[in-house]
Amino acid sequence: MNTKRLTDNEIFDLAIRKEELGERFHDKHSLNLKDFRDYKQSHQFFLDGYRVKSNQLLKPFPKIIYNYINKVTFNAHAFKYKEYYIIAIHLAVWAIITDLFHRMLAHKEILKGIGNPNKESSATSIGDYYDDVADLLINTPLDKFSLKFPKDTTRQHYAYHLSGLAMDFIFEHELAHILFGHVDYLSNCLSMNCISEFQSSEILYQNQFNLQTLEMNADTMGLASCISRAINAIKDNSLVNFNYRIFYKDKYQVFSDLAFAVFNTLRVFGDGDYKETRIGKSTHPNPGVRQVILLSFLEQIMQSQQTIKIEHEKLHELLIKIMVESENAYKLITGKEHNRYVYTPEYFANHPLTSRLPINWKENIRNKLMNYTFVPLPT
Ligand SMILES: [Zn+2]
Repeated sequence: MNTKRLTDNEIFDLAIRKEELGERFHDKHSLNLKDFRDYKQSHQFFLDGYRVKSNQLLKPFPKIIYNYINKVTFNAHAFKYKEYYIIAIHLAVWAIITDLFHRMLAHKEILKGIGNPNKESSATSIGDYYDDVADLLINTPLDKFSLKFPKDTTRQHYAYHLSGLAMDFIFEHELAHILFGHVDYLSNCLSMNCISEFQSSEILYQNQFNLQTLEMNADTMGLASCISRAINAIKDNSLVNFNYRIFYKDKYQVFSDLAFAVFNTLRVFGDGDYKETRIGKSTHPNPGVRQVILLSFLEQIMQSQQTIKIEHEKLHELLIKIMVESENAYKLITGKEHNRYVYTPEYFANHPLTSRLPINWKENIRNKLMNYTFVPLPT
C-alpha cells in the first residue's frame, strides 16, 4: 500500500483537476511577483492565526488548502475534496485587482486627497478594459507583466494598500463559504460541489435565491474579518507594514479605504455592469445590492463595537462620498458607465432582494446551516 503523504500542492492539483478548474499557478512562476507572494503568504498567516484561536469553535478547525489557478478569467472557488476544503482563486483576480488600483492612482483625477496627484497623468479609459488586461496576461511572460505605476511614492504605496485590502476581502469571503458551512450544506443538500463567484447565467440551479442569501452572508462575514483587522491596526500601527502605516493614522480614512477597495472589487466581480438581478435568476445579488448591504453592515458593526470612538454621522457621510468616488474612479479607468440610481433610497428600498435576503437568512438559511457551520452563525 502506498502510504506516501501527499503535499498540499499535490492535493490542490488533484482537487482542481476533479472540478475541471484548470492548472495550479506554479510557485516557480511567481518568483518575480513579490507582492503576489506577499498576499498569498499573509493569507496563509490569517489561516494559521484562526486555527490557533479556534478552541471556541463548534467543530475542530477544518483542513484548508489555499492556492491559485493559472487562468485569465476573473473567478474564485470554494469546495471540498475528500477531507480537505479548497480555496482556489484565479491568477487574473490578483492581476486585474492590482492593475486596476495602480491605474487609478496613476490618474490625476482619482483620489486627489492622496499624495501629490499633480505628478500623475490624466489618461483616458481603455476601450475594453477586461479583455485588454486578459490579453496582456496571455501575451506577456508574467515576470514581464508590468503595472502602470503611479509616479508619486505615496500614491504608489496607496495602490498596493488598496490591492491588499481587496485581496484580503476576497480571501475572507471564500473562507466564510467554508467556515459558515455553505460548502458542506450545498454539497450535502443540493449536490452542488463547488461554489464559484462567477457563474455563467445559463447554469441555473433551483435554489438561486438561497445561493444569493449565502453570498450575502459570505460578503458580510468577510467584511467583518477585514473590519476587525482594521480596528486592531488603528489601535496598534506597528501591526502594519511600515509603508502603509501612514494610512492608519486617521481612523475614518481606514474605513473609507476599506469601502473603496471592496466597492471596486464587487464591481469587477459583477463584470463591471449593474446587471439586474432578479430573485431566483442569478447566483449572486447584483453589485449595487451587495455594495449597499455592505455599506450598512459596516456602519452597524461600527455602531456596536466599543473599541474605538467614532462619530457615526461623520462616518456615514464619508462612506457615501467614497461610494460615489469609487464609481467615478471605476468609470475613468474602465469606461464602464456608472449607475448612481442604485444608491438612491428608492432603489434600495424597492429592490426586492434587499429586504428579502435578510428575511430568508433569518427564517430559512440560518437553520439549514446549523449542522454544517464551524463558527457561531450571526442572527
Ligand atoms: Zn461567494
